[in-house]
Amino acid sequence: MPLCGPSHIFISHSWISLLLFFTLSLIALYFPSISFHPLLKEEEMTRRCLFGPLMTMFVLLVSCLSLAWSFTIPSGMGLTSRWLTRTNVQSSTMNPKFTTLKSNIDSSVASVRGDEGLLDTSRMERAYRGLGYKINPSQSLNVGIIGCGLAGMVTAMELSEAGHKVNIIDSRQFPGGKVGSWIDNEGNHIEMGLHVFFGCYYNLFGIMKRIGALQNLRLKEHTHQFINTGGHIGELDFRFYGLGAPINGVMAFARTNQLTIKDKLANAIALGTSPVVKAMFDFDGALQDIRNLDNISFSEWFLQKGGTRESIKRLWDPIAYALGFLDCDNTSARCMLTIFQLFAIRTEASILRMLEGSPLEYLHKPIIKYLEERNVTFQLGRRVLDLVYDKDVRGKPNRVRGLITTGGGGNIPPEEHHYDVIVAATDVPGIQKLLPNDFKTNYEIFNKIDNLEAVPVQTVQLRFNGWVTELQDKQRMKDINHDYSNGKAPGLDNLLYSADADFSCFADLALTSPGSYYKEGEGSLLQCVLTPGDKWMPIDTEEIAKKTLEQVHKLFPSSKELECTWWNVVKLGKSLYREAPGMDKYRPTQSTPIPNFFLAGSYTFQDYIDSMEGATKSGLMCAEEILKRTEMLQYFKQQNIEKEIENKEQEVEEKDNE
Ligand SMILES: Cc1cc2nc3c(=O)[nH]c(=O)nc-3n(C[C@H](O)[C@H](O)[C@H](O)COP(=O)(O)OP(=O)(O)OC[C@H]3O[C@@H](n4cnc5c(N)ncnc54)[C@H](O)[C@@H]3O)c2cc1C
Repeated sequence: MPLCGPSHIFISHSWISLLLFFTLSLIALYFPSISFHPLLKEEEMTRRCLFGPLMTMFVLLVSCLSLAWSFTIPSGMGLTSRWLTRTNVQSSTMNPKFTTLKSNIDSSVASVRGDEGLLDTSRMERAYRGLGYKINPSQSLNVGIIGCGLAGMVTAMELSEAGHKVNIIDSRQFPGGKVGSWIDNEGNHIEMGLHVFFGCYYNLFGIMKRIGALQNLRLKEHTHQFINTGGHIGELDFRFYGLGAPINGVMAFARTNQLTIKDKLANAIALGTSPVVKAMFDFDGALQDIRNLDNISFSEWFLQKGGTRESIKRLWDPIAYALGFLDCDNTSARCMLTIFQLFAIRTEASILRMLEGSPLEYLHKPIIKYLEERNVTFQLGRRVLDLVYDKDVRGKPNRVRGLITTGGGGNIPPEEHHYDVIVAATDVPGIQKLLPNDFKTNYEIFNKIDNLEAVPVQTVQLRFNGWVTELQDKQRMKDINHDYSNGKAPGLDNLLYSADADFSCFADLALTSPGSYYKEGEGSLLQCVLTPGDKWMPIDTEEIAKKTLEQVHKLFPSSKELECTWWNVVKLGKSLYREAPGMDKYRPTQSTPIPNFFLAGSYTFQDYIDSMEGATKSGLMCAEEILKRTEMLQYFKQQNIEKEIENKEQEVEEKDNE
């Protein structure tokens, strides 16, 4: 009987599934190191190679399960079909250099999808090489980008690389937005926040490789450490005989000393029956299940599944705070499960890296150099007050023409600047203030943005005359005479979590990022992120520093013997968008119904959390939307030229009349 229709596809998927995994198994046997991420250290790679045969057995097991799975699910949902779909998507979006630009695209419909590519490691290569568009110089558009955070800068990288003329405006005096940092009068690097890089930041790593900054990342041990009162360390240790995900994750949860046996069992049941397990076989299906959980909190979901309050308190809350500055009762289940899903599938997703030193030196300067080489101009310290726009006959805004800036704390008089295309790459409070009422009343996409909220957070820096996280050896704790500029000072060299302090995550930057933060003759520089930040907002910064120090002493009793020699507090009233239940539907796409007005920023729709990776992703997506429409956008350029000629003629006429 001839095979036809869905059953044909179903059978062939099963065979392709088997063939694919059999091939993978052979590859794993002969070249075991390819199973791992290219960013791993060399020794780590060698160590892992020893486990090639074990890996092979595991891959074979997965092959069998995948085969069994393909026989039990409808066609189009199996592992292989998903793989095929993704391949198709990539080949259609990855344009070769010198692409012919076509743009009969409906401007109100996003042509780049924010819910794709979460697991796609080839995104790193794509971000490294660029989107591949080059325009004819006569098609070059004058683009104004509001916001010099990562989203704005990445958008500018792609547009300027393609050949557009870009100007970036930001109200702050320094680049980088929330990853921004600056140097005070005494030479201390002050940071807006503590920034760590998960190993699944494929887009950001690609960008960093392009600007030559990838080597500025310092790899940390593959373990998540929890500091409890009295210096007791709990661990979620992903190092398990060199084995990767999901085995190392299962073992990390099984062995953790941060939870009791009862809590561990309850955890196993909750996670074991979650979409995270389904993700191992059907990633897209699991991702959809996870998206459908956006309306409930992580606690609600976890407790329903049999998880315990105690494990939320001891383990999940510190992680939730670190991810989105909210506890599990207030964080959407979607947000947390998206991350766990990545941890379960990709070994590198749970590995942390930190910059060699301050983001200003090690991330932003290389980006700015790249941008300046492509003639991008900057106006820092200039706030955009208003957008200048036209309306159609029904009174609906139908194009942006320019923007009005002010600066110097209002001392610089408002100036009007004209652009062919405008990108608002701001944060949530920025876009809410910037959007005119006309935009909100006429278009749902803009109106919905007002439902988003941003969370407060404080970053406290405390400098000591010794090593705070060195708990074993008092002599070493006070050793500040040796040169520790290599990052090998005594103490814990990683991101640290705590369930017993008001700062849920922190790190000793003198150790983790010595390039800018280690100072000769001085010790630890703790950087602590206070969450939830609401209660600290009205409190005096000195009081905040004092309370933080008291809690450092509670976690590390031996640190009472050290002196705190310097402190600083940065308060951010509105930082990340609140990833609370039900908020995802309010996030806008990067293209908008106003054809020459675009949005970027980590709060815009992309399926990663509000993070540096999310910001980078949104920037790449925004740039792609613009580049795909370059031809259509010529219309706005032409109109601007005509308007300019009209204005000039009017000016001459007025002068003549005078
Ligand atoms: C304390 C803290 C810790 C964090 N830790 C991590 C971490 O460990 N890992 C991680 O991946 N992410 C972390 N993040 C999140 C990360 O910093 C952000 O998700 C990311 O930087 C957002 O980038 P963005 O470009 O979308 O927005 P932003 O960086 O907020 O940039 C927006 C820019 O727009 C400008 N702007 C707004 N309105 C106007 C206007 N009207 N005129 C001119 N300019 C305007 C702002 O000044 C700002 O510079 C952390 C954030 C904070 C606050």
